[in-house]
Amino acid sequence: MLKESHYYFNKAADVLGLSERIRRILLNPNRVVKVEIITDGDDGKLLQHQGFRVQHNNARGPYKGGLRYHPSVTAEHAEALANLMTWKTAVVDVPFGGAKGGINCDPGKLSEHELYEITRAFVGSNTEILGPTLDIPAPDVNTNARIMGWIMDEYSKYAGFSPAVVTGKPLHLFGSEGRDEATGRGVMYALDEALSDKGRSISDVTVAVQGFGNVGSHASRLIEERGGKIVAVADHLGGVANENGLDVAALIKWTQEFRTVKGFPGGDGFPRNDVITWNADVLIPAALEDVITSDNAGAVRASFIVEGANAPTTNEADDILNERGVTVVPDILANSGGVTVSYFEWAQNIQHFSWDYERVVAELEKVMRKAYADVRKEAQQHQIDLRTAAFVLGISRVGEAALARQHIREDINLNIQR
Ligand code: NAD
Repeated sequence: MLKESHYYFNKAADVLGLSERIRRILLNPNRVVKVEIITDGDDGKLLQHQGFRVQHNNARGPYKGGLRYHPSVTAEHAEALANLMTWKTAVVDVPFGGAKGGINCDPGKLSEHELYEITRAFVGSNTEILGPTLDIPAPDVNTNARIMGWIMDEYSKYAGFSPAVVTGKPLHLFGSEGRDEATGRGVMYALDEALSDKGRSISDVTVAVQGFGNVGSHASRLIEERGGKIVAVADHLGGVANENGLDVAALIKWTQEFRTVKGFPGGDGFPRNDVITWNADVLIPAALEDVITSDNAGAVRASFIVEGANAPTTNEADDILNERGVTVVPDILANSGGVTVSYFEWAQNIQHFSWDYERVVAELEKVMRKAYADVRKEAQQHQIDLRTAAFVLGISRVGEAALARQHIREDINLNIQR
């Protein structure tokens, strides 16, 4: 994945004509932290995990990015995702840098109390590098509002009442209205923009969705609300399809009860991986990384891919899709609704003031449509695909900020859009 993010970075840096020196300043992470987390298990046995936080770049504001709890978390994995966060926050023009982190634990094998102790230990080991003006974590895979609440509580022991140290908190603990659906809502706006560029609209498309968690379920619900037909959905256990459109509300209810879409009576079952090549106008990967590869990119039947997940497409697959004329709305644009509402949450916390749901939705729509327009403009100006254009935009904004803060003489014009 690190290879992918470097590949896309360099492709965009070539378009901008960036020097080797600026590439090094922008590409390498500012700080990589690894902490040892030793806690007591419920049965009295020692639990030992490693926690990571990669702070990639803070030229445009405090580091910002999710915390993932998964056995696959490593420093390199976090670095790749931190890198993407830097460009993503710049694409939506929120005043943050990029970070990512996590703990290499398997939450499925830990009790809630064990997770609580591990979370507190992670925060306790990182109090100097976290903070409302330093680094603000958020939920990611296997972390949620409840865990964000524990982070706020632990950090506040050191620094005093600090709701702005973390976003994605529960509503009753200074979370924001609309944060839980924000990424899925942003995906829907991104799809709407991509379709309108081709003279189409949500109400005339069929959609296949991989992943029915936070991002996939909200995106499906909001697309269905606008008349789109969700014809196939798959998760880690299997898929379900209905060519007349799945009843999304009923499917959400089903997954709340059974923790999977598999077995849903409102459609026919299919093997989970078939969703990538499903016969639909739109494919929304909203689960894992590296799911669209050189093995299946040639068989993708959708004309539009909107990346709800981070890094779902390998660079070989991306080249194949571009050659085939598939419109790919890249992760750093398509799934940026989450970090945008995280910014709203942080801003509300700092002002000790709450916005209502309607205001969050209206501001999010404005930010997403503006970001899409900015990326579209780069794509048209340089005659490049949307992913390269999004990287060009993000890198330009971060590069301009980095140069403006330092005494670096560079004879380049980053051509920033204001
Ligand atoms: P989640 O844990 O709520 O849901 C993940 C979904 O993926 C589940 O339905 C799970 O069953 C499914 N899945 C797992 N393995 C699968 C497999 N092999 N095949 C098909 N489906 C599989 O996670 P989420 O928060 O919805 O995040 C999904 C993706 O979106 C991740 O890449 C995450 O980094 C990205 N993302 C999330 C947010 C956010 O605000 N939650 C923001 C930006 C990006």
